[in-house]
Amino acid sequence: MKPEVIIISIASDNYCYLIRSGNDAAVIDPAESDPVMAEVEKRNLNLQYILATHHHSDHTAGIPEIKRKTGAQVYGGDKKIKSIDKVFLDGESFLLGDIEIVVMSMPGHTRHQVAYYLPGYNMIFTGDTLFGAGCGRIFEGSADQLYNSLMKISGLADDTLIYFGHEYTLENLEFASMVDEGNQEVGKRLEEVRQLRRENKATVPSTVMLEKATNPFLRVHTIGIRRYLGMVDRSAVAVFEELRKRKDRF
Ligand SMILES: [Zn+2]
Repeated sequence: MKPEVIIISIASDNYCYLIRSGNDAAVIDPAESDPVMAEVEKRNLNLQYILATHHHSDHTAGIPEIKRKTGAQVYGGDKKIKSIDKVFLDGESFLLGDIEIVVMSMPGHTRHQVAYYLPGYNMIFTGDTLFGAGCGRIFEGSADQLYNSLMKISGLADDTLIYFGHEYTLENLEFASMVDEGNQEVGKRLEEVRQLRRENKATVPSTVMLEKATNPFLRVHTIGIRRYLGMVDRSAVAVFEELRKRKDRF
């Protein structure tokens, strides 16, 4: 059965997700327990798993209480995650109902960062690795690692749906329109996202195709961005690292 994804908006810009297959469900990155439990109870779901993309508290603070209330298993890629039951390696997978969920290693934002990929349904949950038109900050890993993690995502099928961890799309597109000035797709998306945000609507999900067209961190090979940075002949990772530094100061 095709999974349903329920978007739960928490605090000012956090996204947490429920993936539902029939009555079975998994929650991804619960920053708080109450809004998640309200959705679980309203729909009478059997919460099997609590999935964390990384250990930061704005993705994990709700885990202990949800685990205590539901008995769900806590999965992730990092033993630092609160109450974790099983630490997965790159490429390992498990089943939610009949849906296969693959754990993909995505180091960069944190050392043991992961994404959750549903190959049967072309969906990926990227946490703080890739955002709409942006990417996470480099806290524990290297520019090389984060760049390679982003390349894994951009290598998925164009129609793959991307569910990310924070609503930063508008600010990211404002940065993109500066560094990738001649890109008309950025201008078009900026207008669409401004409208969505005026209506207080989420900009998730995105797609791999949309990100390849508008996310400067997936476009470090393009001449426009390279000219803007004065790095026409440099390596992709060097351009990526400089772009990430500029965004940190934006
Ligand atoms: Zn984080």
